[in-house]
This record gives sequence, C-alpha cells and structure tokens, in this order.
Amino acid sequence: MGSELRTLPPAHSGGTELMTLVGAVVRAMGATLKNLFRKPITVHYPDKERKYPNRYRGLLALTYDKETGEENCIGCRLCEYVCPPAVIKVEMLKSEKRNYAKTFSLELYACEFCELCVQVCPTDAIVMMKSFDMATADRREMLLDKDRLHSIGLKYEESWATGNKLRDMQTPPKAPAPAHAKPAAAAAAPAAAPGGADPVGPRAETV
Ligand code: SF4
Ligand code: SF4
Repeated sequence: MGSELRTLPPAHSGGTELMTLVGAVVRAMGATLKNLFRKPITVHYPDKERKYPNRYRGLLALTYDKETGEENCIGCRLCEYVCPPAVIKVEMLKSEKRNYAKTFSLELYACEFCELCVQVCPTDAIVMMKSFDMATADRREMLLDKDRLHSIGLKYEESWATGNKLRDMQTPPKAPAPAHAKPAAAAAAPAAAPGGADPVGPRAETV
C-alpha cells in the first residue's frame, strides 16, 4: 500500500486562478491597445535601408590605400594566425619595396565576427563594414577571395574600428609625472654661487 499523501487544493484556489487569468488578459489587451496607435518601427528592408551606427560591425572586407590606390594588405598572415575558427588563408607575395597578399580567402560562413583579425592588422587592410547584406542560400557564395573582399570594401561604408584605432584605444594611458618632481636637469644642476651669480655662466637665449 502506498504511503503518499495527497493534498487537496483549497476551496478558494479556483477564484484566484480566474483573477490571475483576467489580470493577464487585461494587461495583454492594454499592451495591444497602446501599440495600436504607435508609429510602426519596422524597416521595410531592402526597399528602405537602415542607417547603421558608426560602431556597427558587419561584413569583412579588404581595403585600398586611399591616396595611392594600392592594396593595404602586406600578406603578413597575422590575421590568419589569430583567427579562432581558422577561416582565413593568406599567401604572401614578396616584392622589392613591400609585400602583398598573393592569395587571400575568407570563409565567411564559418566566421565568428570576433574582430580579432581587424585588431591585429598592422596596415588596416582588413576591416568590418556597416552592412550585413550578403544573404544567400548558396554556401559557396560566402567563400570570399581577395577580389570579392576588395569589392565589398568599395561597396559599403567602413565601420569605425580599424586595427590602429583599436590598438590606440586599448593602450593604457601614461601616468602623469608627480607635480612635486623636479626635472632631472634641474636636480643635477650645481647650486647657485654666493651672491646670486649663475655658476654656469651666461646662457643662450631661447628662441
Ligand atoms: S572576425 Fe574573427 S572569426 Fe571572423 S575572420 Fe576575423 S578573426 Fe576569424
Ligand atoms: S589583412 Fe592585415 S593582418 Fe591579414 S595578411 Fe593582410 S596585412 Fe596581414
């Protein structure tokens, strides 16, 4: 024989449940009514393009130097080494004045959008764009080679972040020198001669 004890619900629980239910329905209807008269906030993409904030980080792209028109990538492979899912592959092409990326591929379908590649790039060659506009049902279209990465860079607006700006931002500020500390030269200078004469002699005037 089982020794389980079953407790019966109190007699008033049915009324309480009904009140909870009515309260929930009233709250939900209130929210519906409130939103019925609000302006819609949905953006009808792609007919209407949304303005992205400056710090939006979307698609990855390669850049050209704005002054010389040369590729910024020097093929150093730092982005390849740092990429956690190893989706970047770079081959360096050595040249007399500077190096280039002979090939550069990025498997965007496996990218984590962690931005580490952007952070380590010494020449701001790889950046993130203010767009995500690359929806496709074909995975192969997300395997980006050097030309496609450059064309994305020309097509969309760059995000605020570049490797150099991010590194500047993350550099700890230098501590200011204490106000009472004397400059080293002043501390090493010999004491003034008796009578107030300058022991060093006449000084050159500063221009
Ligand atoms: S954002 Fe991260 S995961 Fe994507 S390519 Fe760059 S380092 Fe790799
Ligand atoms: S994108 Fe930047 S980090 Fe990557 S290979 Fe080119 S220069 Fe080096």
